[in-house]
Amino acid sequence: MKLKTKQAPLKILVCDDDPADRKLVRIHLRQVEDREIILLEAGQIDEIRDVLNRGGIDLILMDLQMPEKSGIEWLVEIVEREIAPVVMLTGAGSEEAAVQSLQEGAIGYIPKSVLSRDKLMGTINDSLEKWRKLQQSKATQEELERLANFDSLTGLPNRRAILNKLCEQIKLTQRYGNKLSLSLLDIDFFKKVNDQYGHLTGDDVLASVATLMKRDVRNVDIVGRYGGEEFIIVMPRTDASSAKIVAERIRETIKSAEMKDSEGNVFSITASQGLAEWVLGEDESTLISRADYALYKAKENGRDRAEVAP
Ligand code: GH3
Ligand code: MG
Ligand code: MG
Repeated sequence: MKLKTKQAPLKILVCDDDPADRKLVRIHLRQVEDREIILLEAGQIDEIRDVLNRGGIDLILMDLQMPEKSGIEWLVEIVEREIAPVVMLTGAGSEEAAVQSLQEGAIGYIPKSVLSRDKLMGTINDSLEKWRKLQQSKATQEELERLANFDSLTGLPNRRAILNKLCEQIKLTQRYGNKLSLSLLDIDFFKKVNDQYGHLTGDDVLASVATLMKRDVRNVDIVGRYGGEEFIIVMPRTDASSAKIVAERIRETIKSAEMKDSEGNVFSITASQGLAEWVLGEDESTLISRADYALYKAKENGRDRAEVAP
């Protein structure tokens, strides 16, 4: 016996104010035998809104001309809310509107004059396939963006992304006359961690430090991985003395955290930080250079400390 995998029923919504036109669609779709179709119908503005809000629709057939809210207006809303692919049903003489609807994001259109079972199912199947590919390429695009902006080891924004965020924050700070501070954090003697416990444990330590730092800052602060074992904290609306309090908290947290290697050996680490408060007109690279110098001073003055740039 041949086993057929059962396809889920196709839920199609037809939005048309004319009951006769809706009936036509219903009659054609009723003749479809190779696919179970659940047809929902809506004509009034409230009905349409109601069905759209309930969701779970695979495809929408939308009449172009409707009295209260036009098909194009509905289309714009549906595209914006990414509810389902929309195929427009167009009347005679509305070729221009059909083209416009494609520009507004309709996936296809069918002139009502050529409506038939085969035409409907052909367009519906093509549209569903097109929609599936679109969703897939959107997901790929999002994944590429994530890879380009986030560091895979720590999950933090990478150097590129954190520099972009810093630039944005500097602009906002300048526009609203606020303060902004930055901390550059570098783990002390990290080479020793790698040498003594192995590179994989080193990686674990970096991931732990990232988690600890994020826990210790406010939601508006942005933590990023600047390079190997160097991190940046961007603190909007924060002057140097407040930033110093945050830095001290992070220093304590890192110092008191219990790190473990794969054999269960426990050890601890420390980190040094260089802080700088943004001065009016300063660009991101100058700000970072000043923080970097403060970091150098923190290392020179014995590590496990935070120094503020003059
Ligand atoms: P200091 O206190 O002066 O900062 O000493 P340090 O040993 O931390 O000095 P340095 O900055 O020269 O060394 C950083 C080390 O971090 C060297 C590099 O091998 C290691 N490192 C950089 N990125 C990674 C990484 O992703 N994983 C691991 N495990 N190690 C890394
Ligand atoms: Mg370093
Ligand atoms: Mg270091």
